Amino acid sequence: MLITTVNISYLLGATAFVIGLRQMSTPATARKGNLLATLGMSIAILATLFLPINGADNNYVWIMGAMTVGGIIGYISAIKIEMTAMPQMVSVFNGLGGACAVVLAYTELFQLAEGGIIASEAQLLILLLTLLIGAVAFTGSMLAYGKLQGLVDDRKVTLPRHNLINMAILALLVVLYIYVYVSGSQPGIIWITALLLLSLLYGLSFVAPIGGADMPVVISLLNAFTGLSAAAAGLIYSNNIMMVGGILVGSAGIILTVVMCKAMNRSLTNVLVGGFGENHKSKKEKGDKQVAKEITCADLAVQLYYSNTVMVVPGYGLAVAQAQKVVKRMDNLLSANGVDVTYAIHPVAGRMPGHMNVLLAEADVPYPKLLDMEDANEAMPNTDMVIVIGANDVVNPAAYDDPASPVYGMPVINVWEAKNVVVLKRSMNPGYAGIQNQLFFHHKTRMLFGDAKTTLEELNDEIKSLEG
Ligand code: NDP
Repeated sequence: MLITTVNISYLLGATAFVIGLRQMSTPATARKGNLLATLGMSIAILATLFLPINGADNNYVWIMGAMTVGGIIGYISAIKIEMTAMPQMVSVFNGLGGACAVVLAYTELFQLAEGGIIASEAQLLILLLTLLIGAVAFTGSMLAYGKLQGLVDDRKVTLPRHNLINMAILALLVVLYIYVYVSGSQPGIIWITALLLLSLLYGLSFVAPIGGADMPVVISLLNAFTGLSAAAAGLIYSNNIMMVGGILVGSAGIILTVVMCKAMNRSLTNVLVGGFGENHKSKKEKGDKQVAKEITCADLAVQLYYSNTVMVVPGYGLAVAQAQKVVKRMDNLLSANGVDVTYAIHPVAGRMPGHMNVLLAEADVPYPKLLDMEDANEAMPNTDMVIVIGANDVVNPAAYDDPASPVYGMPVINVWEAKNVVVLKRSMNPGYAGIQNQLFFHHKTRMLFGDAKTTLEELNDEIKSLEG
């Protein structure tokens, strides 16, 4: 009876995960989806607490203690985290998920080695896989966190011919795993520990050469690894909800990885061995000594006010400046004068998938005004004025015309096809990929330097002074 009730609760939890995920796929229902998935997880955790634990019925104090500490840390992190630091938070939480899988697998393997229990071949295989994937996800995510937070310099952790080193470690890992697997159902603790250490090392080495704009892809891939290790841990304990949850996280991570690779027009292999983060300079960057032309707030206000169509291209700088509400006020002022204002959303603008959608939703920008990259590019030639706010890599024409550039081949928003372009940023500094942008020197482009929020506030005052 108890097991049936727990399984029915798991079914309810799993259903809530699936519907919640579906709702998260569009901004209009994302918040509801998140709440529903949270409810599903709460049901699953509560039901699990009623499961009998072999010979250890007094563990509730430990479980409750760990849940309370974890819950408090999670709550404080969620409240305090800046939107721009979300990838770091995802990396840390993801890494901790991988670490949990490692602890589970290592404990079980340790018991096999010490306790004389004979595991079936399938059990042993699953335990070994959980150990491998969890360890790679753990150390890989921690290094990704260090890189995103600026604590670790890509160049200092990358060795010459690093990809060959990675292949050698991977080959050694495969040989060791096969050896342990075929050598019997009671692996020696020395071998298990060697496997654990080598897997942890591989996680670090795997992420070391990846950097720059490829980081989101690798974070999403590591997320998928953690999901798969959780699913494998679910198999170890024959726990249905762990399997379902792990499979959902694993498949969502893999789908997101593929979507991001597509958005950057790269293959996954190219991302993993391509060295996007290398200190790369194209010929154009080295040689050119061009001067960018500037515009004043007053002139831009007049141009915007008398345009028919204005397209805003937001990027990471909009998030840094927290200028989303000021943009919406500009939109209101222009729309009141009959200007058609839309927003072009690049899939990797900002620092996390959907970053711009979340920011603009915070400012109550209606969803129908948001154009995806394809629609924005189609509308570009008929757009009177594009205003690029804190975006850089996602509007870099080198993606089309500079084969030496690391962004070559990545689809971007073709803002230079509009009639006029104004770029709001603080300086001529490059964006996340660390490369210069020829757009700033284009004959249609004017630069408006300064913090995006301050500039937009001034711009709004100028627009208001044109009214009535
Ligand atoms: P970029 O990082 O290319 O450029 C952001 C620009 O914003 C900078 O050039 C900076 O210039 C400007 N900026 C920063 N602060 C301000 C401010 N307060 N006011 C005005 N401007 C400011 O951003 P994009 O959105 O164009 O591209 C995103 C990049 O991040 C891509 O390379 C992508 O691959 C990568 N990435 C994406 C993730 C995702 O999932 N979306 C996750 C992690 C990385 P200045 O300093 O001169 O002001």
